[in-house]
Amino acid sequence: MNDCQSFGRAEAILTINLAAIFENWRTLERRVAPFARCAAVVKADAYGLGAAQVASLLVRAGCRRFFVATLDEALSLRAAVDCAEIFVLSGPLPGAEGEFSAANFVPVLNSLKQVADWANEARHWGRRLPCALHIDTGMSRLGITYADAQVLISDIRTVKAIIPKLVMTHLSCADEPTHPMNRSQLCEFSNTRALFPRAQASIAASAGIFLGTAWHADWVRPGAALYGICPQPGINNPMAQVVRLEARIVQVRKVETDTLVGYGATYRTHRRTTLATAAIGYADGLPRALSNRGCGYIDGKRMPLVGRVTMDLSVFDVTDAPEGAAVPGALIELIGVSNTIDDVANVADTIGYEILTSLGKRIHRRYLEHQGIDGGHRIL
Ligand SMILES: *Cc1c(COP(=O)(O)O)cnc(C)c1O
Repeated sequence: MNDCQSFGRAEAILTINLAAIFENWRTLERRVAPFARCAAVVKADAYGLGAAQVASLLVRAGCRRFFVATLDEALSLRAAVDCAEIFVLSGPLPGAEGEFSAANFVPVLNSLKQVADWANEARHWGRRLPCALHIDTGMSRLGITYADAQVLISDIRTVKAIIPKLVMTHLSCADEPTHPMNRSQLCEFSNTRALFPRAQASIAASAGIFLGTAWHADWVRPGAALYGICPQPGINNPMAQVVRLEARIVQVRKVETDTLVGYGATYRTHRRTTLATAAIGYADGLPRALSNRGCGYIDGKRMPLVGRVTMDLSVFDVTDAPEGAAVPGALIELIGVSNTIDDVANVADTIGYEILTSLGKRIHRRYLEHQGIDGGHRIL
């Protein structure tokens, strides 16, 4: 109950184990060594876990290349990772090239127009500017095609203004290892990347890493796997769990059989039941789809979520909780080792990515970091 004392006003707590992120980084690095290296994707505030904390940890682990989605994310990351390269996946919006070059961000250029604008920026400063080129090999989301790339290499004036450091693509079906897209995107990419022999290549995000070495190229770009999400559905998760989400129980009541619970009266008790109301709801990112389907854990025992998830509160059947464990002020675990991000996502009919990135601002975040070799943990 130390947690209750030191977080007396914390209704819900997200504990982020930085040591586990460190371990996951090492696992991925080893997996792609010696031919490929790891960059880290810390977009969307490191999937909701705190880009500054995560990135400065990864710098200490040796990471020197980061990917974010937007210019704003890059600007707020800069202070945490002074010495690292920051790639910006969406590239500059028209007119933002100056901010990219001033801050030394490497834009991922996703269209011939973006390439042309970046080349203009370079000519303005009279120096060649680094960039990454995104090749569309089947996602149909961002990137230039093989035909665009041929046009580009014949445009000597543009080519002379930029330095394509990285040629990259993104897989659409990497979480389905037998999907034919994986091979066809690899082939399409090899043809296009051959037009830029001096650039390094990158294909794989978390799932792609587990497709095999053919997809590793020079750089891999994991996000999800660093944060403990299982990179390939159906395999034993090789990643360490990073997060624990707990909510404070604010009320406990004993009710009779046939008592109705919550909005819509969608749950009816089938025995004398002890109900615990916990301070977490869909405004905190707990999916409403968990209504009457999700669960929490108290002392490792499963407590069904009953009735609908509401904005700020959810109700659990804690009848079977150990004596004295389900009391006001105690914590119920919603994500943890017994109920992983992937478990929760499955029940809510979504993916772990959406669960993590939805966790709201109201939730107190605290960080654990490994200290020394004794295996002890220290709260930051
Ligand atoms: C988000 C993203 C990644 C990281 O994907 P994960 O599946 O989280 O590892 C890599 N590359 C691109 C282009 C992305 O948009």
